[in-house]
Amino acid sequence: MNPAVWLIGAGPGDPELLTMKAVKALGLADVVLVDDLVDPRILDYCPDARIVRVGKRGGCRSTPQDFIQRLMLRYARQGLRVARLKGGDPCIFGRGGEEAQWLSAHGVACEVVNGITAGLAAATAVGIPLTQRGLATGVTLVTAHTQDGGMPDWSALARGGTTLVVYMGVAKLQDMRGQLLAAGMDAATPVAMIENASLPGQRECASTVAAMADDADAFRLRSPAVLVIGQVAACRMYGAPDAPALAETRLRRSA
Ligand code: SAH
Repeated sequence: MNPAVWLIGAGPGDPELLTMKAVKALGLADVVLVDDLVDPRILDYCPDARIVRVGKRGGCRSTPQDFIQRLMLRYARQGLRVARLKGGDPCIFGRGGEEAQWLSAHGVACEVVNGITAGLAAATAVGIPLTQRGLATGVTLVTAHTQDGGMPDWSALARGGTTLVVYMGVAKLQDMRGQLLAAGMDAATPVAMIENASLPGQRECASTVAAMADDADAFRLRSPAVLVIGQVAACRMYGAPDAPALAETRLRRSA
């Protein structure tokens, strides 16, 4: 475990959801490039590293991707161990694939360290099992926001029979609603909208495909949020509202 660059998934926010491998790599890094949506508590694991904020909200107004890649390359060529810390998993809507390819093309060894992606964490945080026998045959992770401004093929997704976990969907709810209903999805299909999953400000809005846009407005749903669409969204593994508190108690007891 000693590449020049680690692309590390920071998970959805809660530092306890980091992998041990991520913690180890952060502890070895000389310089850490930090994205938006990475919880600041995670930087406690790299107290001696130089921290460079490369997210849009971190002061580097819309740091261009190209600039970030060149920065990683420059540090790596200086012989520094570089950690690129991204929210969730680096390779789920996180450009991890592009960055790893670019580094490899420039002769720099890199390793991706998985993080728990927001969609998985959000569902579990509110007690939703993303697959459940009889309710969903699989899960599809999808972004509502594509680079060219286009939309995913909602009608194919509506017919697929899997739970849909939608990232970057807050501004697209009205469009999604129209497309899913037009594709024949049952208007009463349950939807869970989860904001700030795993963080102290976590909120959940339960709705349906027909009502999701209006409900999100009334709820003042804000990014970052994921949507879980499908029968499992109405299913709960345990008493929902105090589930995170229960989980904490369980962890404390077993510690
Ligand atoms: N690589 C990240 C996703 C980055 S795209 C991952 O694997 O999770 C950014 C989108 O992720 C946000 O628009 C939102 O849809 C989702 N997201 C990230 N963190 C979140 C959180 N704590 N709660 C809910 N959604 C989150």
